[in-house]
Amino acid sequence: MFLHREHRAQRDDVTGSGIGDIFHSTAFEVVRNLGLFFVVVFWLGLAFWVYRDARRRLDDSWLVGTATAVGLVPFVGPLVYLLFRPPETIAEVRSRDAELRALEARLLRATPTCPVCRSGVESNYLVCPVCTTQLKQPCVSCSAPLEPLWQACPYCATPVGATVADLDTALTAEAAAVPQKRKSSPRQRRAAAS
Ligand SMILES: [Zn+2]
Ligand SMILES: [Zn+2]
Repeated sequence: MFLHREHRAQRDDVTGSGIGDIFHSTAFEVVRNLGLFFVVVFWLGLAFWVYRDARRRLDDSWLVGTATAVGLVPFVGPLVYLLFRPPETIAEVRSRDAELRALEARLLRATPTCPVCRSGVESNYLVCPVCTTQLKQPCVSCSAPLEPLWQACPYCATPVGATVADLDTALTAEAAAVPQKRKSSPRQRRAAAS
């Protein structure tokens, strides 16, 4: 608006062939001012983007300040910042750490699972509470859950059934039992267990 009025005022003052020149020079000034305006907006926008990005990636306010100062260097600064900025945002680092911790906790806990339905079971369960798969044999004397390879109950010293004579037989029985356990249906196992 202001430029337009100035332009008209100049045109009134100047007569003859000068009008065209003034018009051209004013148009040039408008374009130049607009260009400068956009350059400044672009420069400040880039600096602001650097500041915001640095705040997302850097935990230290001094580092954010340094990055913003670098970002204020016209056009080269943001490029330099892009080269040296941390590859991950703070939120990404935190979520990755949380994931790792959860995975670690899951591995550490390492609850045994039912070989059939994969639900979590305790190490002292005799049967899976979900699919009733027989997980361990109870001791005939004290009913403590026994591992398949055990030759005697560790709690009451009662020998485990005479059918398992030695380690070889136990291992063979174990090897044979594993695929059979997976193939048979819960109903068959229930019948076998009873
Ligand atoms: Zn189960
Ligand atoms: Zn026992």
